Amino acid sequence: MITEQTDIIISGAGLTGCTLAALLAKQGISSTIIESSNSAFKSSSARKDPRILSLTPATKRILSSIDIWHQLPVGKIGGFEKIHIWDDDTKADIVFNCSDVCAPALGYIVGQAVLQEVLEKLINSIPIINTMTGVTIASYIEDDGMINCELSDGRVIKSRLLVGADGANSQIRNLAGIAVECIDYHQKAVACIVQTQIPHDKIARQRFLSTGPLAFLPMHEENQCGVVWSTQSELADALLVLDDREFCLALEEAFESRLGEVQRCEQRVGFKLHRNQALSYFNRLCVLVGDAAHTVHPLAGQGANLGITDAAVLSQLLQQAKLDDRMLVSRQVLRNYERWRKTENKKMTLILEGLKNFFEAENDLVSFIRGNGMMMINHSPFIKNRIMKYAMGLSGDVPSIINGPLIKEFI
Ligand SMILES: Cc1cc2nc3c(=O)[nH]c(=O)nc-3n(C[C@H](O)[C@H](O)[C@H](O)COP(=O)(O)OP(=O)(O)OC[C@H]3O[C@@H](n4cnc5c(N)ncnc54)[C@H](O)[C@@H]3O)c2cc1C
Repeated sequence: MITEQTDIIISGAGLTGCTLAALLAKQGISSTIIESSNSAFKSSSARKDPRILSLTPATKRILSSIDIWHQLPVGKIGGFEKIHIWDDDTKADIVFNCSDVCAPALGYIVGQAVLQEVLEKLINSIPIINTMTGVTIASYIEDDGMINCELSDGRVIKSRLLVGADGANSQIRNLAGIAVECIDYHQKAVACIVQTQIPHDKIARQRFLSTGPLAFLPMHEENQCGVVWSTQSELADALLVLDDREFCLALEEAFESRLGEVQRCEQRVGFKLHRNQALSYFNRLCVLVGDAAHTVHPLAGQGANLGITDAAVLSQLLQQAKLDDRMLVSRQVLRNYERWRKTENKKMTLILEGLKNFFEAENDLVSFIRGNGMMMINHSPFIKNRIMKYAMGLSGDVPSIINGPLIKEFI
């Protein structure tokens, strides 16, 4: 028995799924979000996540287009003007400065839970978005150009497209029979918020160790940073069970006391790190976005940015089809989405993987190239400029929301 009909069903109410629903609603396209967690869309305290995200100016533009950015509490958004990275082995370093690309900031720092809460509030206020929590999609069948999803509680919903935005272990990807290439990094990232003795000065800092990168992301408060310490799983497990004082000392030592004493840390959470790439991004009337399609190493803070850009591209292509009076969802639309985003996401994945391997290699020759290469890049404004624009999400094949005014603003 069909209980509901909607234009698009989105499985997963994370950053990607919620952004997509809001972008579609702007074009008058209705959606139903199916979220397995019971606590979603209810209260702020329910979805705790200690991750502090680095968001690109391109993502800021997408989130501004759905009126999210200005709803983020001012005291919860940090901006960084510089990035300082250095190699533990050779001591070579690179500094990127926003003034070199005439931009007000290289990126922004926001808590994942803060952004999630604001997005969920927005979704709750949009009449053409329906949400169902505490349920999953048990199975689906395609029938005459429509898709019928049977939920875990027996209800059936009909729509024109099913979007898998249900994260790295996507159930929709499995139901659609889409294969995934997975590489286990045998690393975990320990994420937490810390208080430091020396102010961060709006600089995002990252030390590359042979065991993995350690990042301090500058939050709104001048002595507060979000830490992402990616390291071998056994070491991460040991760090997670230290008491707060011992952890702060270990962190301070690993970070060479660059911000003085680490005075306090909040709750620590470990995330297993792996790289996933779905071999295709769609199968018939089912399409993947965000971590369901690709999961990357957090070393350059790109995962959520890629997912939010997937959402912008998919909504742009669906809007174009609607304006052209074509079928809202067709194989052509989904193929264009796949071609566009798979190419861009793959490029970023390969760069991140290359950086990870490059900095973790303990071979003398690689170490020599690393030290000299970093020195050369640091003295080459042209290369640094190109790297910055790419990392800011302002180059490559970008959706029209990002293109135009924003790029002009920065060039
Ligand atoms: C330590 C760490 C630091 C990071 N830092 C950054 C950063 O600085 N910048 C950045 O851009 N990215 C960063 N990322 C990556 C970023 O957190 C993810 O890429 C992003 O959260 C992915 O969002 P998503 O909505 O695609 O997936 P998810 O966040 O995984 O959301 C999936 C949603 O689907 C729901 N769900 C799961 N299964 C089902 C199901 N069967 N049915 C229905 N619902 C389901 C889940 O409950 C969840 O709500 C970091 C990641 C880590 C681990």
